[in-house]
Amino acid sequence: MDFKPFQPPKRTLMGPGPSDVSERVLHAMARPTIGHLDPAFIGMMDEVKQLLQYAFQTKNELTLPISAPGSAGMESCFVNLVERGDKVIVCQNGVFGGRMKENVERIGGTAVMVEDDWGKPVDPNKLEQALKDHPDAKVVAFVHAETSTGAQSDAETLVKLAHKHDCLTIVDAVTSLGGTALKVDEWDIDAIYSGTQKCLSAPPGLSPVSFNERAAEAIRNRKTKVQSWFLDMNLVMGYWGAGAKRAYHHTAPINSLYALHESLLILKEEGLENSWARHQQNHLALKAGLEAMGLGFVVDEAHRLPQLNAVYIPDGVDDAAVRNKLLQDYNLEIGAGLGVLAGKVWRLGLMGHACSAENVSYCLNSLDEVLTGMGAPIQSGVAVDTANKVIAA
Ligand SMILES: *Cc1c(COP(=O)(O)O)cnc(C)c1O
Repeated sequence: MDFKPFQPPKRTLMGPGPSDVSERVLHAMARPTIGHLDPAFIGMMDEVKQLLQYAFQTKNELTLPISAPGSAGMESCFVNLVERGDKVIVCQNGVFGGRMKENVERIGGTAVMVEDDWGKPVDPNKLEQALKDHPDAKVVAFVHAETSTGAQSDAETLVKLAHKHDCLTIVDAVTSLGGTALKVDEWDIDAIYSGTQKCLSAPPGLSPVSFNERAAEAIRNRKTKVQSWFLDMNLVMGYWGAGAKRAYHHTAPINSLYALHESLLILKEEGLENSWARHQQNHLALKAGLEAMGLGFVVDEAHRLPQLNAVYIPDGVDDAAVRNKLLQDYNLEIGAGLGVLAGKVWRLGLMGHACSAENVSYCLNSLDEVLTGMGAPIQSGVAVDTANKVIAA
């Protein structure tokens, strides 16, 4: 066998993640590896924490990146805040709420499900009813930005309800962080996790988390040890904590943290509100183009995530054939449907560095050409101009 260094093709990533990583972030990642207890590295860790506090809009001391992808951030919130026998209300309106249920059950807790149709936001009335029916519930968990459908739930309202009934809250913000308004302190979220590969546009593999004092106290007051050694926040804090001796816990993914640091710097330079506005602006342009083409959205505009646009596949069109052609001929990746929406929708991501006016045009033009070439029942040749008018306005 003749092995050669791997050269990935140059793609435009407009699916549900990972999103495009900028040259600037890639270069940061290529800087020399140093020791994970090197004072220079520890200085950078402190900056990562502060930059994450900015991104999350929180003063929480317990704010840091878990050394593993978003799924591990999810697991860290559940294993630290839930103990065997605890009752957790899990709101599900897509794929990721189902994973929350799995987490609760594997810990030995009971998940009370509050279900909404896929494509709808979590219904606060249903949550309130569940809280009344289960006064012994300890935690409420929900997904702020459901990447499987593109629906956004009203985190502030859901957290308020949970607190009214003395429950802690776990919020999935993997897709929302950096792309849409998220205010951890103002909304009083207790535990939150995100990921690096969506709107932060850093490589996959790290999961920023933040716990407020209420959550930290619950962790300190546990009756049992956290079942996961690796994700036990008490131990992780020995390495990441303020004034901690920086005791060895695990070897931090040094170069991935350089990349996260750089991507957070980029976010800070742009300004969080400006980033949210850019996502919304490009979403409006993409939406105008898709609708001009005749494609319909899964989610009502009022609850739609700008960074994740799920549209129905036109009748008679071969889902996989379109995505393959986009990848092969246009180097463009878009996402397939998940779960009950598999084969029925495409998910067009406008995340972080990939969220640009050029990408909106490129995506619409590519999709227009591919669908027209296949004789799909769409309005051809109007999408790009329609989107450009929105961008120019
Ligand atoms: C992507 C995603 C995750 C999982 O993140 P990974 O980095 O893939 O582990 C969890 N929740 C939501 C809402 C996501 O979009």
